[in-house]
Amino acid sequence: MYLQITDHCNMVCPHCAFSCSPENNQFMTREIFHDAIRFISEYSSTISIGGGEPTTHPDFEYILFHSLANFDVWMSTNGKIKEKAFVLSQLAKKGIITVSLSIDDYHEPIDKEVIQWFTKKRGRLSSINSQDNDYRHIQNVTRIIKAGRAIKNNLWDVDDDCPCDVIFIEPNGKIKICGCENSLYIGHVSTGLIIPEDACMHIFNENICFNRSREWINDLFKDYKIEKLLEAA
Ligand code: SF4
Ligand code: SF4
Repeated sequence: MYLQITDHCNMVCPHCAFSCSPENNQFMTREIFHDAIRFISEYSSTISIGGGEPTTHPDFEYILFHSLANFDVWMSTNGKIKEKAFVLSQLAKKGIITVSLSIDDYHEPIDKEVIQWFTKKRGRLSSINSQDNDYRHIQNVTRIIKAGRAIKNNLWDVDDDCPCDVIFIEPNGKIKICGCENSLYIGHVSTGLIIPEDACMHIFNENICFNRSREWINDLFKDYKIEKLLEAA
């Protein structure tokens, strides 16, 4: 599951699928975070810590520590806060966490030293599924997804790709089927799911795109008014 701990970012990339920026100021509270890890641990042993830029969260170290204590953790960073990027690169190098450094033509330039920290000795880009225990990864965006600020800036070049196809928990604790802005609201980490668990398990276990499977999902939730769920979001 994807845990969006903040929508704040210290960059304003024109292609950002979640429209993050320094003006956004939602930061997950510790209370919501603990409810979230309780909720997630019922379904999964892995967690993706996301943003915005996760390292800008004032409680980032607290969140990281408790996430590592409970899950296999994946996260990405833009590396702009160098001291935190260094620590993350070292944790990933030891296989304690998987960390992707995002570098591409659309992000602000990343400090060369930070790129070095995330580059494996052999000099080739690593894979998330690499056989060794060095979980540093450099992520290069090659296709711009039709989502968020990419739409506003008319930058997208594919409309069948996905910003986040797993259960998405917003900084305020709302649970959505996945990461698109118009995705379906299915509950809150503090109060639980508002749809039947078996329906949720369909979604957890299969990669269901809400936007491309509207009919299928309408049928799955036929006893519930999808419009009502969307209104509640
Ligand atoms: S793409 Fe990443 S680094 Fe760029 S604004 Fe969005 S969250 Fe921030
Ligand atoms: S609606 Fe579809 S494209 Fe959007 S995040 Fe969900 S699965 Fe991905």
